[in-house]
Amino acid sequence: MAIALVTGASRGIGKATALQLAQEGYTVAVNYHHNIKAATDVINHIIEAGGRAFAVRADISDESQVLAMFDSIDREGEPLTALVNNAGILFEQSTIENLSAERINRVLATNVTGYFLCCREAVKRMSFKHNGKGGAIVNVSSAASRLGAPGEYVDYAASKGAVDSLTTGLALEVAAQGIRVNCVRPGLIYTDIHASGGEPGRVDRVKSALPMQRGGQPEEVAQAIVWLLSEKASYVTGSFLELAGGK
Ligand code: NAD
Repeated sequence: MAIALVTGASRGIGKATALQLAQEGYTVAVNYHHNIKAATDVINHIIEAGGRAFAVRADISDESQVLAMFDSIDREGEPLTALVNNAGILFEQSTIENLSAERINRVLATNVTGYFLCCREAVKRMSFKHNGKGGAIVNVSSAASRLGAPGEYVDYAASKGAVDSLTTGLALEVAAQGIRVNCVRPGLIYTDIHASGGEPGRVDRVKSALPMQRGGQPEEVAQAIVWLLSEKASYVTGSFLELAGGK
């Protein structure tokens, strides 16, 4: 038995991933930030289906909370062999003229620093160098890292560009230590992340510009993440999987 940590697992892509990883036999550490009820619902869902899961609260942008989260995972007594860096934030649409330093810093703190901190703590536990059993990490980036988000969320797009570079560099650094590091780049996925930003009709406008003419479901991203973490992807590291309807 082994633990998979999924950050931001109380809803959206993280929730779908947690549910599928439990079906694969992982004990799932369900990270949440504020909403313990939603996290508990995910855990109950997993347990009712015969799986194993527990909740770990942490704001991933806060180092002390990340350290406490990994300590509580250690206390479960099973090795951590999978990390899904999924928790992320996206603010409302804004041109660069209106981007405040506070907003830029918050986006980078969660979408970049948070990913770094969780990678660092996971590597300490997975690496052969530290007597770990090896493992796999999947970073959830975005198609925005390739396409930009002009006039909309250039801060968010840039933060995901950093996630891409983290993936490439870390995959090389830890390949010989038994850890694979890969990345998924979702496009438009129907989750609550779109509730806070965007002009009315934005989601429909983006959707109609997609070759597949539809957005994706969180479960479609989750199944790619599960595959990248699995032994079926045993020779895959430093790779990027586009989940963006052909864009
Ligand atoms: P979501 O808003 O439904 O879920 C994000 C989760 O992250 C939430 O549970 C939230 O509480 C959590 N979170 C945010 N800040 C946190 C923090 N500081 N500490 C801990 N948890 C925190 O959104 P989603 O669409 O499921 O997004 C998941 C990931 O997918 C994000 O990284 C997002 O950037 C990425 N993504 C989403 C889309 C999309 O269209 N939905 C497209 C590309 C990439």
